[in-house]
Amino acid sequence: MTQSSAQSSVPFLPFVKPEIDEETIAGVADVLRSGWITTGPQNQAFEAALSEYCGGRPVRTFNSGTATLEIGLRIAGVGPGDEVITTPASWVATSNVVYEVGASPVFADIDPITRNIDLDKLEAAITPRTKAIIPVYLAGLPVDMDRLYAIARQHKLRVIEDAAQAFGSTWNGKRIGAIGDIVSFSFHANKNLTSIEGGALVLNNEDEAELARKYRLQGITRTGFDGMDCDVLGGKYNLTDVAARVGLGQLKHIERFTEQRRKLAHAYFTGFEGSAAAKLGVGLPVADFTNSNWHMFQITLPLERLTLDRAGFMEQLKERGIGSGVHYPAIHLFTLYRERGFRAGMFPHAERFGATTVTLPLFTQMSVADVARVCRAVDEICKQHAVGAAA
Ligand SMILES: *Cc1c(COP(=O)(O)O)cnc(C)c1O
Repeated sequence: MTQSSAQSSVPFLPFVKPEIDEETIAGVADVLRSGWITTGPQNQAFEAALSEYCGGRPVRTFNSGTATLEIGLRIAGVGPGDEVITTPASWVATSNVVYEVGASPVFADIDPITRNIDLDKLEAAITPRTKAIIPVYLAGLPVDMDRLYAIARQHKLRVIEDAAQAFGSTWNGKRIGAIGDIVSFSFHANKNLTSIEGGALVLNNEDEAELARKYRLQGITRTGFDGMDCDVLGGKYNLTDVAARVGLGQLKHIERFTEQRRKLAHAYFTGFEGSAAAKLGVGLPVADFTNSNWHMFQITLPLERLTLDRAGFMEQLKERGIGSGVHYPAIHLFTLYRERGFRAGMFPHAERFGATTVTLPLFTQMSVADVARVCRAVDEICKQHAVGAAA
């Protein structure tokens, strides 16, 4: 391809890349030299800092944002025979954890505009067996939190917020995590705040926080020098101090990270305005610059007007030195879910979104010029591969 050879001097632009400062790297070296490298003082400091960030609510750290969801369900008392309503447009962890605790996921389709769970459909899916809701704030855009909690209160349902992508997002000026029932964050390397791998649960009271601590490590309670008991079935989900130190170093920058992401998202809207891509029908996310932390910038492709499929489109981006991703194929179409009775056609908006979405590069160390370059590339691919375009 002449395109790629002509541009081979331009560095490859990945779709995501964490920003770790030198102070954090030095801090990690200090932890490694300290002699205490697994859960210890850095975790205590990280929990305290996260709690302060979440308006003083109790916080417990975990080794992933999957563990936090599973333990959140256990704390809410969700188990065999219960139904949990969630969205089919998410990372599969969101509903796998429901099976993990012996309950059944019930999907409600998304609103094609926000790409989040449609709250009317959520309400229609409530049955006498419904015990909890797991809303997902896809790409960091919250659902209507007032309406969500009105539904939960009316039907006496617990809410385990899958806020894996929403650290730094707000609702009416209040931070996600500072409001609500149980809130689950992920600190995976691709998330807005990372501890390499990790997660945290925001809880309602000290009893829940104590239960979270026990579930996190084998259900163990220690008293004095030699007293030990185990009264709940816990697992092994604790975060290392090395990871907690990375998270602490990140937390200092979260406001700047979110500002920079909003600026880049804004540049995407400017870049696509009036473009050939927009005219062809490339779909953009909701232009929210108050609540969303802009975890991702996801477009949808008008595949019926293009002569290539999504993989071909992503390949064309790659040839232009641009990385991209897919977040996410509809969960209910995966084999595990089909084997449990789900079928194509059940949640058409999630299916369509899952089949046409492409995540474009968006990370804090990108520039507005990088965004412009991505927009030009998308435009060029759309023009060259539009149905009926001159060969
Ligand atoms: C990342 C993510 C998770 C899982 O977090 P891990 O830390 O990778 O276990 C769950 N739900 C959503 C929506 C996510 O984006």
